[in-house]
Amino acid sequence: MCVTFGAAAMAAENELLRATPLAIAATCFFALAISVYLIKQFFAKSKRSKPCYLIAEFKPQYKFKRVLADNSYSQFKHLKLHAADSVSEEEELNLHPYKGEVSRLMKNANVGILELFDGCEKWSMEMGGEYVWVEAEEQLRELVVDLSNEEVFAVDTEQHGLRSFLGFTALIQISTMSKDYLIDTIALHDVMGLLRPVFANPAICKMFHGAHNDVLWLQRDFHIYVVNLFDTAKACDILSKPHKSLAYLLETYCGVATNKLLQREDWRQRPLSEEMIQYARVDAHYLLYIAYCLYLELKQLENGMFSNWLCSSGMDNTDEEYSFQFQELVRRLCVWRDLMARLHDESLRFVLSDNAIIALAAKIPTTEADIYSSMLEADSDVESVTMVPLQTPSPVVCSHLDDLFCLLRGKITKLDDILQMCIREHLGQGGSCPLSAYNYALLSKTTLGTGSRITPNHNGFRASKQVAKMASRQLFVQKFSCKSPVYHNCKIYASDGRLLCYCDQRKLQWYLNRDLAKLVEEDPLSIILLFEPKGRPEDEDNDFYIQKKKNICVGCGEGNHYLRYRIIPSCYRIHFPEHLKSHRSHDIVLLCVDCHEIAHTAAEKYKKQVAAEFGIPLFICRVADLDKTQNTPTSLPASCEEINVSPLQLRIASMALLRHGPQMPSQRREELMQTVMTYYGGREITDEDLEKALLVGMSPHERRRFKKKRGYTFKHIRKSSNPIDAEEDIGGRPPVTIKNAAHDEDEDSLHTNTTDGYQQDDDNIFEDAKITAPCSIDADDSLSDTKIVSGIGSICISSNDDTSGGGNLSNGKTHPSEENETLLKNDSKMSLSGHGPHGKQVVEYLLKEHGEDGVREFCQRWRHVFVEALHPRFLPGGWDVKHSGKRDFGEFSVYKPTTNASAAAIAG
Ligand code: AMP
Ligand code: MN
Ligand code: ZN
Repeated sequence: MCVTFGAAAMAAENELLRATPLAIAATCFFALAISVYLIKQFFAKSKRSKPCYLIAEFKPQYKFKRVLADNSYSQFKHLKLHAADSVSEEEELNLHPYKGEVSRLMKNANVGILELFDGCEKWSMEMGGEYVWVEAEEQLRELVVDLSNEEVFAVDTEQHGLRSFLGFTALIQISTMSKDYLIDTIALHDVMGLLRPVFANPAICKMFHGAHNDVLWLQRDFHIYVVNLFDTAKACDILSKPHKSLAYLLETYCGVATNKLLQREDWRQRPLSEEMIQYARVDAHYLLYIAYCLYLELKQLENGMFSNWLCSSGMDNTDEEYSFQFQELVRRLCVWRDLMARLHDESLRFVLSDNAIIALAAKIPTTEADIYSSMLEADSDVESVTMVPLQTPSPVVCSHLDDLFCLLRGKITKLDDILQMCIREHLGQGGSCPLSAYNYALLSKTTLGTGSRITPNHNGFRASKQVAKMASRQLFVQKFSCKSPVYHNCKIYASDGRLLCYCDQRKLQWYLNRDLAKLVEEDPLSIILLFEPKGRPEDEDNDFYIQKKKNICVGCGEGNHYLRYRIIPSCYRIHFPEHLKSHRSHDIVLLCVDCHEIAHTAAEKYKKQVAAEFGIPLFICRVADLDKTQNTPTSLPASCEEINVSPLQLRIASMALLRHGPQMPSQRREELMQTVMTYYGGREITDEDLEKALLVGMSPHERRRFKKKRGYTFKHIRKSSNPIDAEEDIGGRPPVTIKNAAHDEDEDSLHTNTTDGYQQDDDNIFEDAKITAPCSIDADDSLSDTKIVSGIGSICISSNDDTSGGGNLSNGKTHPSEENETLLKNDSKMSLSGHGPHGKQVVEYLLKEHGEDGVREFCQRWRHVFVEALHPRFLPGGWDVKHSGKRDFGEFSVYKPTTNASAAAIAG
């Protein structure tokens, strides 16, 4: 290594010395010498590394003579249809060779495929014992002849992905009306091109289920292009089927059960097990009949559907605040993992799991033992995504541990140089790892100075975004999901024994403590009311309240974690008249983070619509100098709405600028500055302004706590202008609103706020309530829910402004930075969304113009938005967009806030 590298360096030095004045040359030499030294240091230990594990392994793909897509960073090259005596367009632009045919078909799609299905009836579709295993070239040629006589055939493929970087096709299943073929694409890899003509023939219709991947895989491995396809999954979309999995279709149309777990089997194995053969055949065999059924349904819809083509989705170009070091480490590890995977032709997952990357970047282990143990820990609690047992740490990591050390040690300035060195070290002359058809181009293209850079913008970099997104999702679930079951499903009976509702323990306790009820059952806890409630839920068409509620996400059924979601945003709800708030349990549901994100995003979008419709802006803008204006903030005209700087965005931006301003990429700094400047009405800002911005919207308590816990010392705010007393009224809720909020959010709660002390403006109430509360829906709803809302708000704030420093779970821009996290922790009582004033005005307007019906109708609109966004499948029975919310159990009912005090008085 030293020899090769030394020679290269010398050559470069000579160039420099000749071409430039001596002084510059000397400087360059010095710089070069340092980097040579650093890189040598970096690889100094490699010599002692264990031999590459691959030396002792055989992989089936080694037998492939030629591969169309290798692991180098160069672009995939499409099939060239015409001999290259003149440079055709398709050649030059590397276009899909059948682009023309496909678009012609798209324009003229209705070829009446019904006739194709002659003989495709249910009785004739049973799968017999016979199938053809195609493993010799001669057999493949026969198959091609057979297929060219068909008008339609069904296709499915099985991939192997674990021990290959790009994955490769291990099996192709093709079914005609009369036969099932299984093609051993490992044995036939180099002659699969024989199938190109039938696949590209527009007169033959190919049936797939979810063609997206299969189409890509066929191109990638064999330059097989599909022209004229029918996709049964797409058909399901168009027909708005409740599910679109093949398993569902098999079940529904053919009464066949399939075990989809088999798709994760190692499809390289030969011979395939009986079970795998059966699975593989089923995937293609019934497709023709299913396609036929769906086609009939589509005909009815008069909505012919044909080839849909694939386009690569662009990278989500988002930026996020994140701990810089953590992010940088994740990025390095992802890029390294990517390179190692290419080099050894392994999947990313085989090299290093996402979880392991997160763990390494978070802990930065310094010894071999530390690295091993963090990785073991990270991978231990992850459900294996593959049936093949995985080794942790992987052989790749074990045999190239030195690389990992250097990456983690953090001294590297130019990652690209290191990676180039890795390639030379591992693949170059006398390199540690085997050369193959998959990695050869990696060596030739990246080390011959063709300027092919490894970072950024390739896979590894993209993956780092995904990993970071995952890390923040985990963090989010951990921090904000409910810590104990929300619904206890305790029962309240009327004195005649009829069920009134399900509720939590605290509610029961409230009645019991006041001798208003008697305990009748222990498990689940149930009470009988000793007073006569005014009505019965079923009499009022309120079945909803006598449904047992499950502790699962109402969107997707996820049961492992969930958080509360308010269908009607708090900024409106808190301003509703008391009695309209009484049916809160109907409009607070449990959602997993993913569904929460979807619902929240839709709601934020709808808020904007409401703002436009009512002409009431979402945000109040502060345009004047903070020192001089101490008055209540002014709502600005509609144009201000565009500005959209929420207190949270403002704080994130300010904190980031104060902490990392000088080190930030200038573009990012500029963006953040813009956010802050906008808030200050466009004027130039000082560090003092930044510090003040940190405190915007906080109550005095929060500010004190912020200063104590954040550990941020204000260096710029002048003593004269006391930040603690300034701008009391910006953004956050005034104390009285907090009270209301507490009351409001006190979901279906029997204990009134006056009696249980929730209103006290005490910093620790929330925390205490959280720890001690037996039941979270009531206990921490009052205050902590504001926390959850604000948590989500911060995570999703980008729905207001996509460039903000917040993030969006689903778009890969989550990442509360250290800062944000702490902010979240400390802001339990504040409405960070800052929409409070907007909500107030909207509700006032509704009441004035349309009375209470206006508010009811408004609620329905929000339920509608929720249902449209999520299509929730697990809503409790009786849940209804039109829910009226009339609940009135009489004099002692907790649903009547005014009666609570008297009830308590009577009881006491
Ligand atoms: P299928 O046609 O559904 O059998 O899937 C085709 C191929 O996709 C399989 O052979 C797998 O390589 C891959 N695949 C699909 N779904 C999964 C999954 N959940 N886990 C792992 N691999 C999968
Ligand atoms: Mn399959
Ligand atoms: Zn969900």
